[in-house]
Amino acid sequence: MSPPGRWSRLLSAALELPGDGPPSCGAVLDLRVTSGEVLARVGASREGAHRVSLILPVLDAAQWDTVAAALGSQPLFRAHLLAGRLPVEVARVFEVLGLGLLPRGRAELVATCSCPEWREVCGHVSAVLEALARRVDADPFVLVAWRGLDRGALLAAVRAHSRAGREEAGDGGDAVPPVRVAARPLPADPAEFWCAPALPAPPGGGAAAPPGVLDGPLAPLYARLLRRSR
Ligand SMILES: [Zn+2]
Repeated sequence: MSPPGRWSRLLSAALELPGDGPPSCGAVLDLRVTSGEVLARVGASREGAHRVSLILPVLDAAQWDTVAAALGSQPLFRAHLLAGRLPVEVARVFEVLGLGLLPRGRAELVATCSCPEWREVCGHVSAVLEALARRVDADPFVLVAWRGLDRGALLAAVRAHSRAGREEAGDGGDAVPPVRVAARPLPADPAEFWCAPALPAPPGGGAAAPPGVLDGPLAPLYARLLRRSR
């Protein structure tokens, strides 16, 4: 398992949270991570608690299939994932593919709160972000769920691509079934629909590997991805 705090530090860095932001206030109740949205209530009790929503664009089925193929082709990642672990290096695989597991900056995240003080980030949103960071450290697969795929579907796709890769190498295997992404229901409030965040950059747009990773343990994966893109 990744050392404690690594995923939450990545999340804080990705969201570019200011160090002088509003202090968190209130207890976080009912934190739920769904496809494309984190929902929570913040307050001393359910009655009168404020509702916080953190909306993040989901990846589509083709993008998840690309991710699963990349992860399934690498023995190191495959072993971690199929053992139920999500090492932080997986976030860089998404980056290399031109995708994001973590939010790609604050502009990609739409945070709202029902309190009257809400502007951009109020104390209730801060409290939910802190609670989410702790949840991510305990179970980083909540990031996968937030991006639109549940853990079981990701592991099944990685396993299928692993078998397909062995089949290509003459080791037997099965065809890869398509990744199925649960459709996210439209928001009840039309105003939420029309303030959806900007779409992420399209994948495969010549995304460069982050500096310093080409000579690390990911080097075989990058080499393979580069060959595939040519
Ligand atoms: Zn608030």
